[in-house]
Order: sequence, then C-alpha cells, then structure tokens
Amino acid sequence: MTRAGDSWASAGEADLDAARAVAGAVPDPELPVVTVADLGILRDVAAEDGRLVVTITPTYSGCPALREIAHDLQYRLSQAGFAEVIVRTALAPAWSSDWITAEGRRKLRAAGLAPPNRAPKGPVPLTLGDRRGPVLCPRCGSGDTRQTAAFGGTACKALFRCEACREPFEYVKEI
Ligand SMILES: [Zn+2]
Repeated sequence: MTRAGDSWASAGEADLDAARAVAGAVPDPELPVVTVADLGILRDVAAEDGRLVVTITPTYSGCPALREIAHDLQYRLSQAGFAEVIVRTALAPAWSSDWITAEGRRKLRAAGLAPPNRAPKGPVPLTLGDRRGPVLCPRCGSGDTRQTAAFGGTACKALFRCEACREPFEYVKEI
C-alpha cells in the first residue's frame, strides 16, 4: 500500500476500517489462539492530527503483555502503511473476561481451552472453586469437571480435569 505524499487521515473512514482490521488481528501474547479484538481489549482506533491512535486495555497479565501488544500493533500498522501510530492504554473501565467475544470463546474451545464463566459483578467474595456454575469441558461439554491446580501454564489459566471424558484441560479464568 503506498501513501506517498498523501496524508492517510484525509482518506477517511475506509483507512480507519483498514487500521481496525490490522490492529484487531494482533494475537494476545498469553492466549495466542485469540486476537486483541476477540478479547475485547482493542478499545478504539482513531485519527488524531494525522496520526493513528490505538487504545488498548490490559488484561490478566498487565504491563509485560501490553508492551508486546503495543510493539506488535506498531509493527503491523507500519507494515500496512500507517506511518505514525500512537498506542494508548486505558485502565478504566477495567477489562473483564466478559468482554471476550463469542468468536473468541469459540476459538478458545477449538484450542481445547474452556472459556471463562461470567465474571462476578460488584463486591462478591471469590472463594476458590466457586466458578459461578460448572466449568464446561471444552472437549465433551460435560459440566462434571474439577479443578486440579489454581494455575496452569500462565497465571490466567487454571488446570481442570473432566470426569466424563477423563481429559485434563485449561480454564481461562473469569475476572
Ligand atoms: Zn470432557
């Protein structure tokens, strides 16, 4: 894509749509089977004074992953012809796993990961094992599962085992 001598901002909404598509396709470092769009952490893509401003919200892992995402956004958008890209972080409202899209949940299940149950709203004490309903096995769909470890490969996941099909799986925690 060449934009020589022409400010992309003047081209308008079509370019913003292209930028949104490129930005939304960036994978999450901790959950690479889903994109930042799937996770709902891509908050905004806008033009500001001829520059592209991308706003993202941190998830489970906070800053290290966010830096990686910001770097990836800058790189991919520059490859797509957006010369000046600013990545901003929005801490409020805080991200919730409820923001994960239906498509994101489908991709998690397809990768053998149980998507998060509904996050507790308000000052609800979160006791271990209370997952607001059963965690469903991503392989067979059974709710007869139990947690075997509070932390999986990364802090955002817990280890579960399905009593129906006997397979272990990872659950992406609700927050
Ligand atoms: Zn199962």
